[in-house]
Amino acid sequence: MKILVVNAGSSSLKYQLIDMENEQVLAKGNCERIGSMALLTHKTGDKKVEVEKEMPTHSEALDAVMKALTSGEGKVIDSLSEITAVGHRVVQGGSEFTASTIINDDVMAAIKRCIPLAPLHNPANILGIEACTNVLGKEIPQVAVFDTAFHASMPSKAYLYGIPYEYYEKYEIRRYGFHGTSHRFVSQKVADLMGKDIKDLKIITCHLGNGASIAAVNGGISVDTTMGLTPLDGFMMGTRSGSLDPSVVTFIQKNENLSADEMDSILNKKSGVLGISGVSNDNRDVCEAASNGNERAKLAIEMQNYQIIKYIGAYAAAMNGIDAIAFTGGIGENNYDIREAVCDSLTYLGVELDKKFNLENAHIRGNDIKISTADSKVAVFAVSTDEEMVIAKDTLELVK
Ligand code: ADP
Repeated sequence: MKILVVNAGSSSLKYQLIDMENEQVLAKGNCERIGSMALLTHKTGDKKVEVEKEMPTHSEALDAVMKALTSGEGKVIDSLSEITAVGHRVVQGGSEFTASTIINDDVMAAIKRCIPLAPLHNPANILGIEACTNVLGKEIPQVAVFDTAFHASMPSKAYLYGIPYEYYEKYEIRRYGFHGTSHRFVSQKVADLMGKDIKDLKIITCHLGNGASIAAVNGGISVDTTMGLTPLDGFMMGTRSGSLDPSVVTFIQKNENLSADEMDSILNKKSGVLGISGVSNDNRDVCEAASNGNERAKLAIEMQNYQIIKYIGAYAAAMNGIDAIAFTGGIGENNYDIREAVCDSLTYLGVELDKKFNLENAHIRGNDIKISTADSKVAVFAVSTDEEMVIAKDTLELVK
């Protein structure tokens, strides 16, 4: 059984074709700049095929992907009929979706109803679903896997904001949380690595990438998470501010005469590690600048670490203790220094990092490792997240 995993952006389409018999990725790639002269980069094993052509919509992009999968140097299947089903990453499932679901007309309508909550993401995800229907036909089963679903279990005390209740009733303004597929995968992986039932564990998962979030997972259930109504909330990220005093927003808007959209762009694209360091949003560049003595780069790293440490403390309090912490995402899987800096401030919880092992295994390269000592009261792991595999597994489970 082969599952196609699709992650559609407004002008991009990322995909993986996974053989579920052995959970092997047969091919993966990305179409960029859909809408004009687009570029498809298709990889199978160590082969890389590039196709540059006009792709006015996601349908032409998906068509190019299908051609790459079935012909030429990057061919991995004989015909499209070998694809059993398609799993889509859908960013916002609102309060409607608490789990992955087979897509039908009602589900499409509900995903569309969630557009006001994710105006940049859901329309793109819908384009991806429609492109699959156009290119692969109506008969192929398609599944939606929501970034928000894992956090749908949060209690109202965690998901409501302290603003007039009518805004929740009128617009469904609340914390939804994102990266749910990753937090679900990583927390289960931690339980497996510990050889324990996830129901008996309190785990904090730190997904540290360009976008970053932390979740408190109690007994396998997300009870709180840092991202909120949108993925802007929480701690400082590559270009996003994370939480701040809401008055900062109105103050800057008034004094700089900015529209809501302009302010939104500053908070989402010009803030965070980029905004403080003035160097880059990329962790590698900022770390390099810091090691060359750039004070603002150092400050950006210190601020991000400090905010992560505070959230871990908050979630340890929210769950009345923790058994494990996991680091994942591009930064969590590659930057031993952040893992060490964070763990150094968690000794009060009984965290004891095996610093030598953590350093020797700075890049975990697809593996999962325990980086705490045998005596550490809290087990600490670096885990390779795999959101595509979760989407493929959910898809297979549902179409079975
Ligand atoms: P996203 O999926 O949110 O775009 P990723 O999970 O791919 O982000 O993480 C991107 C971040 O990971 C970047 O800041 C990048 O610098 C960092 N990163 C990737 N590889 C390394 C590495 N080898 N060392 C340090 N940081 C890394």
